[in-house]
Amino acid sequence: MTAGKATGRALKDYRRITVKIGSALLVDRKSGLKRDWLASLVEDIAALARGGADVLVVSSGAIALGRTVLGLTARSLPLEESQAAAAVGQIELAGAWSGELARHGLKSGQVLVTLGDTEERRRYLNVRATISTLLKLKAVPVINENDTVATSEIRYGDNDRLAARVATMMGADLLVLLSDIDGLYTAPPALDPEAAFIPFVERITPQIEAMAGAAASELSRGGMKTKLDAGKIATTAGTAMVITAGTRMSPLSAIDRGERATWFAASPNPVRGYKTWIAGNLEPAGRVTVDAGAARALRQGKSLLPAGVTLVSGRFARGDTVAILDPAGTEIARGLAAYDAADAVRIAGLKTAEIETVLGHEARAAMVHRDDMVMSRALETETADDPA
Ligand code: GLU
Repeated sequence: MTAGKATGRALKDYRRITVKIGSALLVDRKSGLKRDWLASLVEDIAALARGGADVLVVSSGAIALGRTVLGLTARSLPLEESQAAAAVGQIELAGAWSGELARHGLKSGQVLVTLGDTEERRRYLNVRATISTLLKLKAVPVINENDTVATSEIRYGDNDRLAARVATMMGADLLVLLSDIDGLYTAPPALDPEAAFIPFVERITPQIEAMAGAAASELSRGGMKTKLDAGKIATTAGTAMVITAGTRMSPLSAIDRGERATWFAASPNPVRGYKTWIAGNLEPAGRVTVDAGAARALRQGKSLLPAGVTLVSGRFARGDTVAILDPAGTEIARGLAAYDAADAVRIAGLKTAEIETVLGHEARAAMVHRDDMVMSRALETETADDPA
């Protein structure tokens, strides 16, 4: 189910909204959960729900809250302790959400996911079915990474990209990132007092990406970089995004009151269905560099043939996602490899007729088939100006 396409800059213009809440907003190191603030946010959520929108919550804060409850705030924690802190914090966090939502007559359902739940196609479809059933039953999904079982190698790590993955999976038309910063600036404002605020981003280009610094605060893993990564995932799939400060009370209605926020336009030609899953893939397993002729052919909608491949790197199996790079090293597309890495290396640069001889068996013509490929939005030609 995909919500209707909307392009406005008021929350009421949107029918399905994913709201991501950063840890620093919800949790105070000393006093724990910020209940008054949460109550004000949930009041906003309830108003959107009354207006007919589906709201999904991606809430961070499990680890931060668990640390406060357990008195483990003074030092950085080894993995087992942060997993234990997440277990303690998550139960409290979920309780707080369900309690606040219930005050407005809203039901809620906790969904904890690990990386494979969005990156493996079968599990992705399974999570999607569960969340859409929750929405059908009018229960607000309250989603977080399952930090208690996630290890450092196998995790999202930041809820910005997780939220984007959830938003696009569910066909949300808007992703709201509530952060400790009120939007995107030409440079990190903490480092550069001259940094200028940017109210609207038509498309996340490499120039826009260059404006992001690294992670900003100790409690938030993300920083602006992962927010722009989230923006790329969201906007490619037709989900608009807005970043605003969650530090004030009632942070959602504040957007509609005109408080500062940066809006990111959804792609006018969003990818759909299966391609949404490919485009949002978080960590491609390999990289395939192509020559100029192949890069041109891909832009014309052709499949990637081995003949146009100049370099293959990474370890990937057939069906894994690979990034496709042009000769300058810019990512131009993402797709599912039709060969594993070892075979891809052997047939790179070969004509279709030569492949069978090298592999010793009949082979697929394409290294990445066009049906399994999504072009990067950063390379679309500039079209519209800020419509506001
Ligand atoms: N999943 C983590 C938590 O709940 C937060 C990740 C993030 O801050 O982005 O503690």
